[in-house]
Amino acid sequence: MERLLYHVDVISRQRNRGQLEVSLVAALRETTGAESAGLYKLFTPPGDLMVGLAADATAAAVRILDDGISWPEGTGSLERFPHLHACLAAAALHEDREPGTNFHRYSFPIAGFGQETFGFICLTSRQAIDAGRIAVANGLLALFRNCVAMLDYSEIDTLTGLLNRKTFDEYLINILSHVANEGDQQPASLRLPRRRQAHKAASHHWLGVMDIDHFKAINDKFGHLIGDEVLILMANIMKSSFRSQDKLFRFGGEEFVVLLKPTELANALATFERFRNEVELFPFPQVGKVTISIGFTRIGLYDTPSIILDNADEALYYAKENGRNLVASYEELLDAGKLERHQLMHTDVEIF
Ligand code: GH3
Ligand code: MG
Ligand code: MG
Repeated sequence: MERLLYHVDVISRQRNRGQLEVSLVAALRETTGAESAGLYKLFTPPGDLMVGLAADATAAAVRILDDGISWPEGTGSLERFPHLHACLAAAALHEDREPGTNFHRYSFPIAGFGQETFGFICLTSRQAIDAGRIAVANGLLALFRNCVAMLDYSEIDTLTGLLNRKTFDEYLINILSHVANEGDQQPASLRLPRRRQAHKAASHHWLGVMDIDHFKAINDKFGHLIGDEVLILMANIMKSSFRSQDKLFRFGGEEFVVLLKPTELANALATFERFRNEVELFPFPQVGKVTISIGFTRIGLYDTPSIILDNADEALYYAKENGRNLVASYEELLDAGKLERHQLMHTDVEIF
């Protein structure tokens, strides 16, 4: 009982998703006496449903394997996890034996408040886990679900439903620490199924800052309410244009930030260009045409959050100075000699 209350305290104290997940698996393993407890996330890209191990606990260690952006290593089609497939289909606890060890295996679905399953807990145990301990596990899962809902709420910008500025800092630090852990050759964040990794050698995360062009004029001409509506519609275009693994933030005002999952420069450029074009073509009610300027940069091994943001800002500034409604890549501008590395901008035109 004391240990259970200890775990309830630890779980409910977490304000970071990875720490919350790892505190859940540690609590489940200890309170059920299982050999291992794993938290699997369900990813829903177009095509197959994918499943990846995000955190696990054994007697030896607890691990976080998810940086919040890329699929964890070993992520594969749900079909490769028949026990989780059965658990999802039943939307209930599924019991079987683990192949190889013949341990008892318990798969629990984790659902959000809209009832959609977003992950699974999988316990393996030498001995059968009795009903009392299964009830404790269900109680801890209910607590976890509440904590996830609170975290979701605290991470969201209320006007647009995008992630907020505070959350951005956490995501970026997460990405940087995962990249740093495994070296530049193969970022840890590049957690794609092995067959797909060979093609991704030049992949990096990318950060884009996006600023609506002449937004002040929209407010001045149509009023603040219509201005707000443009922000909401802009966020909706972002949500439909970028992929589900790309993270979208409102930075405040009419400025947005996107963290792209690992890809090559050409793909990053095409992704931002596609969005810029969709905005240009979108008929905003009353206002008509609205455009956006975008500066983006690579997230490198030795970068700090402030350098990454500065680099993307410099590219954005270049786009603003060169006609707006443009996408500018910091690295391409450097190569072309149009920007100098870590050049300081002293100007009376404030972008941010
Ligand atoms: P540029 O193309 O150089 O970016 O020009 P701009 O007019 O967009 O740039 P500026 O930064 O001068 O103007 C941003 C405006 O955004 C000023 C401010 O009134 C408005 N704004 C900031 N936050 C909000 C908001 O939440 N709602 C609305 N409606 N307007 C906002
Ligand atoms: Mg602007
Ligand atoms: Mg601005």
